[in-house]
Amino acid sequence: MPIKMIVGLQYGDEGKGRATHYEAKNASIVIRATGGSNAGHTVVANGKKYDMHLLPSAIIRPEVLSMIGPGVVADVKVLAEEIQKMRDAGVKVEKDNFVVSERTHVTLPHHKELDRLYEMLKENKVGTTGRGVGPTYEEKTRRTNIRMYDLFLEPNILKEKIAENLKVYNILVEAINKLIEEGIYQEEKFPIITAEEEYEYCMKYKGVIKEFIVDIYPILNKAIEKNELIIIEGAQSFWLDNDHGDYPMTTSSHPNASGTASGAGIGPTLIKEVIGVIKAYTSRVGNGPFITEQDNDIGNSIREWGHEYGTTTGRPRRIGWLDLVMVKHTKNTSGLTSLCVNHLDTIGKLDKILVCIGYKYKNQDINYVPIDKENCKPIYKELKGGWNTQNATTFEELPKEAKDYIQFIEEYTGVPVKYIGVGADEKRTIIREEV
Ligand code: GDP
Ligand code: MG
Repeated sequence: MPIKMIVGLQYGDEGKGRATHYEAKNASIVIRATGGSNAGHTVVANGKKYDMHLLPSAIIRPEVLSMIGPGVVADVKVLAEEIQKMRDAGVKVEKDNFVVSERTHVTLPHHKELDRLYEMLKENKVGTTGRGVGPTYEEKTRRTNIRMYDLFLEPNILKEKIAENLKVYNILVEAINKLIEEGIYQEEKFPIITAEEEYEYCMKYKGVIKEFIVDIYPILNKAIEKNELIIIEGAQSFWLDNDHGDYPMTTSSHPNASGTASGAGIGPTLIKEVIGVIKAYTSRVGNGPFITEQDNDIGNSIREWGHEYGTTTGRPRRIGWLDLVMVKHTKNTSGLTSLCVNHLDTIGKLDKILVCIGYKYKNQDINYVPIDKENCKPIYKELKGGWNTQNATTFEELPKEAKDYIQFIEEYTGVPVKYIGVGADEKRTIIREEV
């Protein structure tokens, strides 16, 4: 049962895309399991850079079947445009290498308006990507949202469903627009949206995506029976998980390992490996607690060396030291079997590196993550940096300090580091087969 899962353990953007793309080389199926077009996964391969938002990171391997799972929410426009963009870049996106679950929920124009509306009302902004992902999950939970399957219904039936789903939005917008008129909120008014408009939106992009929409279970069953390698690609990250992360500064789906398995439709006992991806430091997009944040010259340097600007929004990412307490917390909560540590090249540019190994919390030293993270102050251990990974292709060839850094992560977390990223290009991945 060689089913492997790749999940993020920090705040997203750990390099899950590049890890997935690497692992996909022997896979028959790669399935994206959670999130929507708020995700941004970058893969540098064949001398080119590819940015994926909805498509699985394996799409650039034409021999692999890339799948969008039931746990994902997909904006039909973004999906259609991404397919086109990939085709324009010479990437094959055809029926035999790409499918979308008919259970995948559809993100619609009013969901993006709701993102703006909710952020406007909130005192404590989450800093969402504004792609309508949260509101899509909300209406999915309210059980009014439409799925890919619905795009094939009789036009009148589909319009009725869309109208039903739009009711709450339009009532809300009427009330909010009054408050905007009264000057209580300084924001552009929100549009009333009709079922006809959203129906037209769906039909406009259905042409491009309809051939990919299928029942994924028979395909998965066949691959499982044949013992083929399946990779489940996570999006976002453990600490953005709505159950286990920094609630309410979280994402609306469940990007922890169990939620990712559920989003793919594969049971936990079938999953042989859970590969947790981290950076050799920490980055965070959006608001929320960040115990090891370096809002200073060190953070600025790492941001420039690591090109830490969001794939989806272009926002500068917040930067901080590696927080091993946070990473260790995911060992059991995610059932990790190994780690992938990316950006070892980036952090090595510093001569002195700090790693967080505990917190000062309510006048005590602790080594777990309390619910009120914002009351923690970091306890650091200083490690030696100043390495250059340029010539290393194996773990043994890494400079001593770089090896020590990796070994420190292993000792602290109790999880072996199997993959090490020493550059953005797929070729700059060090694999430790012995791990
Ligand atoms: P994801 O959302 O987890 O897939 O990660 P992103 O792709 O959003 O962000 C990771 C960024 O770091 C991308 O720009 C990658 O190309 C880059 N990257 C990943 N691993 C490495 C690495 O080992 N070294 C360097 N220099 N860049 C890396
Ligand atoms: Mg990303």
